[in-house]
Amino acid sequence: MHRLQIQIRRQAWSEMIGHCLEAMPREACGLLFGCLSAAGIPAAEHYVPVANAAKNPLHSFELHPQELVRALYAASGKQELVGIVHSHPRAAPYPSDQDLATLWHTTPSHWIVSLRNPSLPEVNAFAFRKRQRENFSLEAISYEIVME
Ligand SMILES: [Zn+2]
Repeated sequence: MHRLQIQIRRQAWSEMIGHCLEAMPREACGLLFGCLSAAGIPAAEHYVPVANAAKNPLHSFELHPQELVRALYAASGKQELVGIVHSHPRAAPYPSDQDLATLWHTTPSHWIVSLRNPSLPEVNAFAFRKRQRENFSLEAISYEIVME
């Protein structure tokens, strides 16, 4: 097991999963805001649901542009964007080719909530690591759910 790389508050965790369940059978998406600790570990404190503007929301997601801007504006100066969340209603919690094509490389974490078994959501977090030049790789990161 690799070392801990992000924390998420229980409340944000519950809201993230609740939103993904509500959106079924469509993919849900949202943002996690929080702060970077002194040790450089991001802490996700709040979940903000964002509408899925994809043409085919059963199989993909696209953060609704206006809601995205509104959420980023509301957090600016207070909290940082520490994660982007989306769900896989039927697939495993691993990135699709389309997920890998994201432009949000610098966001510290990318969360995938799989609801293939809705009573037992599976959640994985990933982060892009820059390789040579413009090559990025996506790696699984470990997380911890915290009360505070
Ligand atoms: Zn996906």
